[in-house]
Amino acid sequence: MNRRKFIQLGVVGVGATLAGMESLHGESATVATATKTKTSSTIAIPISVAPLVQRDLDVMFDDMRTRAGVNALFIFIYTHEPHRAGVGADNFHGGNYARPHMEFYRDTPLTLSDMSAPEFGGVDVLARVIPIAQKHGIRVFPFILEDNSLPAAVKTDWENLYEVDHHGRRTSGHPGGPCFNHPGYQNFTLGLVEDYARSYDIGGIMWGSERQGGLLNTLGLSQSSGIDPGKTTCFCEFCLKKGRDRGIDVERARRGFDEMELFVRNSRNGQRPRDGCFTEFWRLLLKHPEALAWENLWATSRHELQMAIYQKVKSVNPTLQVGWHVWQNVSFSPFQRAEENLSDLAEFSDFIRPALYNNVAGGRFVSFVKGARGSVFGDLSSEATAEMFLQQLNYDEAPYDKLAATGFSADYVERETQRAVEAVAGHPVQIWPGVDIDVPVQAGESHCTPESVAGAVKAAFKGGAQGIILSRNYVEMKPENLSGAGGALRELGLI
Ligand SMILES: [Zn+2]
Repeated sequence: MNRRKFIQLGVVGVGATLAGMESLHGESATVATATKTKTSSTIAIPISVAPLVQRDLDVMFDDMRTRAGVNALFIFIYTHEPHRAGVGADNFHGGNYARPHMEFYRDTPLTLSDMSAPEFGGVDVLARVIPIAQKHGIRVFPFILEDNSLPAAVKTDWENLYEVDHHGRRTSGHPGGPCFNHPGYQNFTLGLVEDYARSYDIGGIMWGSERQGGLLNTLGLSQSSGIDPGKTTCFCEFCLKKGRDRGIDVERARRGFDEMELFVRNSRNGQRPRDGCFTEFWRLLLKHPEALAWENLWATSRHELQMAIYQKVKSVNPTLQVGWHVWQNVSFSPFQRAEENLSDLAEFSDFIRPALYNNVAGGRFVSFVKGARGSVFGDLSSEATAEMFLQQLNYDEAPYDKLAATGFSADYVERETQRAVEAVAGHPVQIWPGVDIDVPVQAGESHCTPESVAGAVKAAFKGGAQGIILSRNYVEMKPENLSGAGGALRELGLI
């Protein structure tokens, strides 16, 4: 089904609102709006909540506009993570920093009190920010990035929504998370996007999930290396049913993960399998192809939720832009790159933001290599593993021992942008790469400069980007580095 058809079916099938139908019938008005936005690139910046309540918004938006021509603001508007809210962890509650309208949350266990963020005195941040942002020519997008931990302050109602590992234990944080197949989580997410779409004058919504399937986690193939291989997900009642409906032998899948877990624990303890790590890994897959089917169940279930989000928002207002934050791990893992195929997302996306944080990428890639050597690639040296991945991923970067100190180059940003653009070719999907402006690094790793930021911005547009998301958070950025982005955008004639 092509995308236009999908939108039409979504709008008509779900039962369009009067506003939605009017937008469709008023085609000339819709086209005029689209043409208008097409002529100017989206220059976006994410921001945590605190500065939007505590600072003088006119001054702050003027700073963003002046330095870098920002015309879109992505607010971490729903979070139970203190750093995304922008406050300390003590007695932190979090939740929705706009006002939850309960008619949208009927079939979820979460209550008004679970969802309402009490920090900042309950001010409705979207209601406060949108009119002022519009005055500065800035569109507002709620950025819903899944939490990495079970919300501590409202644990009771949230924990039932969380994934279950292959030992039958409820997870409480990364790499586990809320289950895409749990109706309570689906209803919450769809209620949340509908609430934002109906209640506020937004430009669109970006949703993101920084996770991957259980098999890749068990094998430690992650930028967050050292993951407990016993926490493969998801084996909750809803996933078990869905797996059975797809014809997967659930118990064989579970046994496959048991054996993978043992393989990884032994590898990490320095026990080399008789025939080598790679052969052992492949043999386990031959013996338990159900584990691979389970991985695909997880990856496609997330895409199904994304399609539902897209359809829900479009049913409210087809002109709102819906897009996805894509976890940077996809840049390091040939395995996750396979399952997170942007071509699959293209059917239900208006924009995609691959996280291409080139400066912090060096350290993250080194961490990925360490994880990979603890399992599948335990036969190879660190240098050989890194070189193999760089070639597989088609990057031309510094040698392994220099990478953390140098970061990745602007060339990486260009190559990954170009790959994303090619993946969605034939669809009206825009690629808005997330470029690195002072994303926090570990000790000894390189730091951004105005020149490095300018280089990354130019590389993104050279790779074919139609917009850009200056990342990852306005409050983390040194002003001169944000100006570096602005200088490049001016040079390119985009602002
Ligand atoms: Zn599940």
